[in-house]
Amino acid sequence: MNMSKKGKPIDPPKGISTILPEDQKYYRYILKKAEAIFDYYGFERIDAGILESSDVFTRTMTADSDEEKELFSFKTKNSEYLALKYDNQVSVAQAYINNGMNSRPHPVKLFYVSSSFRNIEGRRQTLEMGVETIGDDSEIIDAELIFMAHKLIESMSIGEYSAYVNSMGESSCRPAYIRALKDYFKNKSKKLCSACRDNLKTNPLKILNCQVETCKEVNKEVPQTVDYLCDECHVHFKHTLEYLDEVGVPYILNPILIRGREYHTRTAFDFISDANPELAPVIQGGRHDRLIDTLGGSRTPAAGWTMNLDQIVTALKEKQASVPDGKIKPKIFLIQLGEMAKKKSLILFENFRKAGIEAKSSLGRDSIKSQLRIAHRLGVKFALIFGQKEALDNTMIVREINTGVQETIPVEKIIEEIKKKLKT
Ligand SMILES: [Zn+2]
Ligand SMILES: [Zn+2]
Repeated sequence: MNMSKKGKPIDPPKGISTILPEDQKYYRYILKKAEAIFDYYGFERIDAGILESSDVFTRTMTADSDEEKELFSFKTKNSEYLALKYDNQVSVAQAYINNGMNSRPHPVKLFYVSSSFRNIEGRRQTLEMGVETIGDDSEIIDAELIFMAHKLIESMSIGEYSAYVNSMGESSCRPAYIRALKDYFKNKSKKLCSACRDNLKTNPLKILNCQVETCKEVNKEVPQTVDYLCDECHVHFKHTLEYLDEVGVPYILNPILIRGREYHTRTAFDFISDANPELAPVIQGGRHDRLIDTLGGSRTPAAGWTMNLDQIVTALKEKQASVPDGKIKPKIFLIQLGEMAKKKSLILFENFRKAGIEAKSSLGRDSIKSQLRIAHRLGVKFALIFGQKEALDNTMIVREINTGVQETIPVEKIIEEIKKKLKT
């Protein structure tokens, strides 16, 4: 193996970013809001591995599509073909199959927080959070998922978002719709972009998601899925909308909202910013009753949604939402001076933690001035000074920051005394 040579710093791969400490509060905030809702509705967290057999993802892709190029896949030394998690929804379905979760009481309700990886221009790693309800095809499930998404968005200060809803039918009624689409596009193919012209042969549903202006223009007059639904799909959609009316979730019908994969069925929904409707949906969801059997499991209905966490964080920042930093405010600051005091400081500091007193220290520093400055900045009530002399005498100087009043206290009594002082 080549040892990397020392030299200038190595550039990070394109489209992969780091969440820095100062941004963690946003993710913590979203997760806290979400977990409160997920818990209440009975969703449990699942963490699927970051690597899968490449087959897991290629099986769910449309045949002859170029999606496979987006997969980060590689061959290991043992000739296994593996891929980075391409789609969280697929990984969760795979985990459901692999872990025999079909023997659990249904529906199985799961949520996840994980990155997905796609080798595309722009962002290649996206942190997502999502929910899946597996094993129930009733309309109330679709409505519950949309309702939860609506409530979660509403609970964060990120502005107004609307739910766009559609039904795309399933295997018994979709072929008729695809035929209608092909007919419609047949004499308009010259107006389509080259990718869409290819998709016209293999998967015309994908044309409906094309963002090229000329294609968007052609899509305006396209046949609507609802006109091709079979009776059962029609009733399913009607009931879903009735439930949404009942719980008061506003929605907008989007008759050409479509997911391009064959395992997607019936309800599809997007949550889109009212202020910036050109932005990608912040939540995408719907039903995928054929996902689990596509992956080799027994036929099991499923529905869910995925939220783009990075997009929510951007929105929180733009709205300058007040997000608590979640840090514990320290009450005391431990100042140490000299070798001997430093040595004993680690255990002293730990004793405060065990006693439930929020303390801070800066053990790497040696000057009293710089340590006092930090104590001031943190706004602690007391600085505890532990110097050479105090280390010998086994005492500490307790200094009240505001008044500068000092008092010497034996180390063995310090916890008890500080507790008393903090109470007053
Ligand atoms: Zn196009
Ligand atoms: Zn149908």
